[in-house]
Amino acid sequence: MTENANTNQNHASILLIYTGGTIGMIENPETGTLEAFDFRHLKDHMPELKKTEYRVESCRFEPPLDSSEMGPEGWRRIAEIIAGNYSLYDGFVVLHGTDTMAYTASALSFMLENLGKPVVLTGSQLPIGMLRTDGKENLITAIEIAAAKEKGLPIVPEVCIFFENTLLRGNRTRKMNADHFNAFRSYNYPPLAQAGVHIRYDTSQVYYPLLRKPLKVHYGLDPNIAILKLFPGMSPCVVESILHTPGLKGVVMETFGCGNAPCDEWFLQLLKEATEKGIVIVNITQCPAGCVEMHRYETGKKLPETGVISGHDSTTESAVVKLMFLFGQGMGTEEVKEYMQCSLIGEITVGDK
Ligand code: ASP
Repeated sequence: MTENANTNQNHASILLIYTGGTIGMIENPETGTLEAFDFRHLKDHMPELKKTEYRVESCRFEPPLDSSEMGPEGWRRIAEIIAGNYSLYDGFVVLHGTDTMAYTASALSFMLENLGKPVVLTGSQLPIGMLRTDGKENLITAIEIAAAKEKGLPIVPEVCIFFENTLLRGNRTRKMNADHFNAFRSYNYPPLAQAGVHIRYDTSQVYYPLLRKPLKVHYGLDPNIAILKLFPGMSPCVVESILHTPGLKGVVMETFGCGNAPCDEWFLQLLKEATEKGIVIVNITQCPAGCVEMHRYETGKKLPETGVISGHDSTTESAVVKLMFLFGQGMGTEEVKEYMQCSLIGEITVGDK
């Protein structure tokens, strides 16, 4: 456990990347409407920042994106900005809408291989220009985390999400609440830090690369992925229409409990036909917490026989993006299946690849 009271990294430099979302909104004093914040005048709008001696510079997406419109193109832009400025800053804070923040964090965690500096995503439920905003605290603490070092090395050299009081591993996080300030959870992995009077880092949970290698950015992402969420009474034509999607390469199948599904012959047959065509079907539980164990029940046991593989304790967000990433590297079916069952960067609880 490391406690950081922010005393010894006053000259850290941080790049703030504003992609869009509620956090960057401020009320225009003349019209009363909410407009995108001008980050060139960040310190004027947030005098709190003047108390730090960090060098905080910013850049922004033009136009800013609601995170519902974020996807591979936006992820590539963020990765490109980080790569282009990597040697110039100690850490990066990505301001992002909360709705799809977990997907973006997962994507960046795979795209930024050998990451050795913090990339902290944050946002807010209320615009930064509103009196009760949660944005100021989120932003200031995210900057502190991105700047935090011990013995000259970053404390959290990971892609993570900071929200409310908690720092979570990005590819383990889900948005769980549309209203509350405390909107994100990581059920299958402990927090990396808790922010109270001090920021308490649990360094035993942080991913530290064994060897320090140069950052390598992977831009290839294949969008031919689908989510198949099971529900009782699902009709064959719905399953068929998803599995027969032209060009489909990977499916995240959200099953019941610890990875169970109906045993109807038509259903198992459709899965088998799809995997035989080379489609990778990954079994993820619909439960917010816990792990897939297909051997526990008869209703799970039949799935591996159809070629479905376990997604272990992955979030849906992380599994979707990991499939995009692996197919985007030009991998074939067998290789993708192998990598889906290993941890690339701490996204599932199994051995590392
Ligand atoms: N719809 C917004 C977005 O995700 C909500 C937010 O910023 O939290 O971009």
